[in-house]
Order: sequence, then C-alpha cells, then structure tokens
Amino acid sequence: MLDIAFIRQNADLVRAAIRNKRFDLDLDELLSADKRRREVITLLDEKRARKNQVAALIPKASKEERPKLIEEGKEVKAAIEKLEPELAEITRVYDDFMLRVPSVPRPEVPVGAGEDDNVEIRKVGTPRAFDFEPKDHLDLMQSLGMVNFDGPRKFAGGRSYALTGLGALLEMAVTRLTADVLVQRGLTMVIPPVMVKERAMQGTGFFPLGREEAYAITADELFLVGTSEVALVSLHADDTLDEAQLPIRYAGLSPCFRREAGAYGKDTRGLYRVHQFTKVEQVVFCLPDEAVAEKEHYQLLDNAEAVLHALEIPYRVALACTGEIGLGQTRKHEVESWMPSRNAYSETHSCSTLGDFQSRRSNIRLRLANGTLVYPYTLNNTAIASPRILIPLLENHQNPDGSITLPKALVPYMNGRTKLERGG
Ligand code: AMP
Repeated sequence: MLDIAFIRQNADLVRAAIRNKRFDLDLDELLSADKRRREVITLLDEKRARKNQVAALIPKASKEERPKLIEEGKEVKAAIEKLEPELAEITRVYDDFMLRVPSVPRPEVPVGAGEDDNVEIRKVGTPRAFDFEPKDHLDLMQSLGMVNFDGPRKFAGGRSYALTGLGALLEMAVTRLTADVLVQRGLTMVIPPVMVKERAMQGTGFFPLGREEAYAITADELFLVGTSEVALVSLHADDTLDEAQLPIRYAGLSPCFRREAGAYGKDTRGLYRVHQFTKVEQVVFCLPDEAVAEKEHYQLLDNAEAVLHALEIPYRVALACTGEIGLGQTRKHEVESWMPSRNAYSETHSCSTLGDFQSRRSNIRLRLANGTLVYPYTLNNTAIASPRILIPLLENHQNPDGSITLPKALVPYMNGRTKLERGG
C-alpha cells in the first residue's frame, strides 16, 4: 500500500505506474474519494464538537434560549446521523481503492507488456550441446519411476502428480541442500503455516487482486498460501520491530498452492506448471533505506544463484519489465534456468524489492534507534521451487541411457548416490 500523501503529491507518477504495470484503476476516483472523506471527517468533527457544546449549554441556558438550543441540538444530531453512514461508505470505497494502487516501479525497470520485454542482464554457464537425442524430464522421470500422474489424476484432478521413489528423494535432497546453503549464509529456517487468514493475504498484497489464484477453505475462512512469503511477512504483522533486530532474513519451507486460474491449457505436459509444489522462499525485512535494500536484493539473488551453481544448472538473469512485476513490487529480477526440452531459459526464481508496500498493509512498524517510527522494507526471492527445478536438473544431467549423473553437491544429500538409474 502506498502512503496517501505520496499519492496526492505524485498523482502523475502513480498514474504512469498503473498504466505501465497494466492495472485497471481510475486514480481520479480514489483522489475524489479521499477528498470527500477528508471533508466529511472535518464536518463530523465540527458537528460533534457543536453537539457537545450545545449539550453543555442547555442546562445553563435561559428559558428563552433553551428551545432554540434544543432545536439546534436536534439539527446537529440529524446532521451527524446523515454524515456517519456517508463516512462509512466513503471509507469503504477509499480503503478498497487503496488496496489496489500499485507501487511505483524503480526507474531502471523497463516499460513493457510481457516476458518478451524483459531485459537480459547476464547468462551464467553454457547450455549443454547433446551428442544424442535428449529426453524431456517427463520421459526421464517416468522411465526411472520418479513420478506418477495417472493415480493422482483420478483422485486429485488435473495438474496433480506424486513424486515417487528417487523423485521424492530428489525433491527432499534439493530442498535440504538449499536450506544448508541459506543457513550457512545467515538465514533463519522457518516452517510456517500454509493455511492463513484473509488479513495475511491482503497484508502481503495477494488480495484483493489475485484472489482467484488462491484456494479457499471456506468452512474455516482460511486460504492456502501460494508462497510462504505470505506467512513469513505476516510473522511480524502489527509488530513494532527495533532497528537492532534488522535485518531479519528468513528462509521458509512450505508447500505452495496455486489455482493457476489464468493458465488454462498452458504448460500441461510434465511438471512445469502444477497446482501444488514445494518451495524454499527467502524473505528479508530491512531498514527503509534504498542503499540497504539494494544490497539485500542482490544478496538474495546471489543466494539463489549459489543454489544453481551447486546444482550445475546454466541460467540467465533478467530484469522484468513493468507488465511482468506485481502490484507491490518496485523491481523484479527473474532467474531462468536452461531447460533443454523447452530449448529455452524458463523462470525458476524471482527476486523482488517491495519497499514499504507490504509493511504498510500488514501494519509492521520499525522504531529507529533515534525513536522515529517508520515502516521497514521487505524483499523476497525464491531459493528453490520443486518440482520445476527438477526439469533443468534432470534434463541437463542426463546420459544417453536415460540415467542421470548427479551434481557433486547433491551426492551427500542422496546418501552417496552419484547416479539416478533404473533399479537404483
Ligand atoms: P513466484 O512466487 O510466482 O515468483 O514463483 C516462484 C517460483 O515458484 C517460480 O519461479 C517457479 O519456479 C515456481 N512456481 C510458480 N508457480 C508454479 C507452478 N504453478 N508450478 C510449479 N512451479 C511454480
């Protein structure tokens, strides 16, 4: 959420953000709701003050003055009774608008509509040139007994799957390796709740826009998170942090649930786009200082890259364009891993800076050493998301006989196994 004072003073900047991020919102409607809301608040304050004055004057008034005052008291009361519902309604409209105003992208973010407008920053590693016909992850996994689609499709519906045997062990291994990399780099591991209240979804910017992406548990008014970022940020909702506590750097391990409502018929083969996956997500709270946040952002990016190095996966880093960054993000880098079957780099990680967007919505304050109260900045990045990461991992490390040579760093996490092979 933006500060309304900022919106009033920078209306054109915010209008450009709405346009460039491709949201559908009339800022003038918000500005007029804000104006009317302030007028009604002032009017109500005046009327309430006058009501109290009149009530105090009546007992002391002379016989002649009293009926006039009683009449005025009635009029003031009627005016208040008319203004109160107006204030409630205008506040509802105002609050609803405020939750939909996007943050302003940083100046370096390229203006663009979709993926093709993202700007490549660098490539790391070289995609392998195969001297045999490589298989895709689905064929590899099925022949190694690593995945079952047929059973889950019957009892759990489309896009469902079960990782089996070496598939299950491999997901546990990449997740555990990632946790070790992050803990070694100073992050605190968290296994948070994945069923959360509406407030957490709203506080982190996933609601009200994006509501159709979440699974609702209606009987209990809870929602399944699409990322542990929701829970990690909400761990401090309504808290006042101390400057000395910062930075807070969390790594959350959780299942993630996404309806993929807008992706009907897209990426239906294999494990690229599924409804449930496992993710280690990094979340940082830091000082509201651009230089500090900048350092944290690149550290988060470096952490993710360290995991890809360990997994020996070639990747590229791209700066996402305005049309590809979410409501609250002011800048996002995407890390895209090389996927031979797609003959392309495809997104496996996204690293975002959000300024104070989430802490305002979640009412997270920060008391600076000098006593001033401010809002901390938040940032996040994927550290690993599986099964999507299994696609580049298996496809890049496959052998002509369909076995997979494991990257050295994974071997200890697979009980010393150096290869995934049939019957292994
Ligand atoms: P996001 O939180 O949307 O930035 O996504 C973070 C990462 O989670 C992505 O880069 C993917 O690796 C993974 N991911 C997101 N959505 C899905 C999905 N529907 N199926 C599988 N993996 C996903």
